[in-house]
Amino acid sequence: MYLKQIEVGLMQNFNYLIGDPVTKECVYIDPAWEVDRVLKIAEHDGYRITKILLTHHHFDHVEGVPEVVSRTGASVCIHADDRDALEVEDVPVILLKGGDSFSLGSLHFKVIHTPGHTPGSVCYHLTTDDDPVGHLFTGDTLFQGNCGRSDLPGGDPKILYQSLNRLKGFEPSIKVYPGHDYGSKPVSTISYEKSYNPTLKVRTFQEFDLLP
Ligand SMILES: [Zn+2]
Repeated sequence: MYLKQIEVGLMQNFNYLIGDPVTKECVYIDPAWEVDRVLKIAEHDGYRITKILLTHHHFDHVEGVPEVVSRTGASVCIHADDRDALEVEDVPVILLKGGDSFSLGSLHFKVIHTPGHTPGSVCYHLTTDDDPVGHLFTGDTLFQGNCGRSDLPGGDPKILYQSLNRLKGFEPSIKVYPGHDYGSKPVSTISYEKSYNPTLKVRTFQEFDLLP
C-alpha cells in the first residue's frame, strides 16, 4: 500500500495520499495549504488522484479542494451533514453517510460517522485484504493526546464524547492518523491513546466535560 503523511501549512495540518500500488489510483485526504507540493509528490510517485476524502468542512481541511479538482478531476467526498457548510463551489460532490464503503483497487474504505467537532465529521477506516485491522484517519475528532474542539459552531461536547467512545471500540492495534500534528508523534494507535490520551481515559461525560 502507498501511504504518505505530509505536514502542511502553519496549523500543522496533515495531508494524506493513499494509493493502490497496482492500479496506481490514489485518494487525497483533506487537501489544504500546500496542494502543489502534495500533487507533485503523487505525480513523482506515479499516482493518479481520483478521490478527495474530507474528514469535515473546516477551511484548514478543504482550502485546496478547488485546485485539486481542477488539476486532477477528482470527485469530493464529504458527509451529508457537513455539505452545507462546505464553502467550495462548483466541484463534483459525493455525499457520504456513516457505514458507506468503497474500494480503490485493493484498498477498502469505510465511513465512520463521528460527529461532535462538526455535525458531519467522519473517520475513514482503511483496510486491505492483507491487513483487516487497518488504519483510521481521524481528522479533528481524535488527535494524538487530545481530541478536537467541540465549542465551534456545530460542535457538541456530548456528541463528541459519544463518538470518542465509539473509536475506543476499534481494534487496539489499529493505527491512528490525525488531522493535525498536535501530539508527541505523528501516528498512534487506539491502544496507545486509550492508555495516554485524557479524552479517551475518562469514564463519564462529566469527567470529559471537566477536562481543560
Ligand atoms: Zn476542524
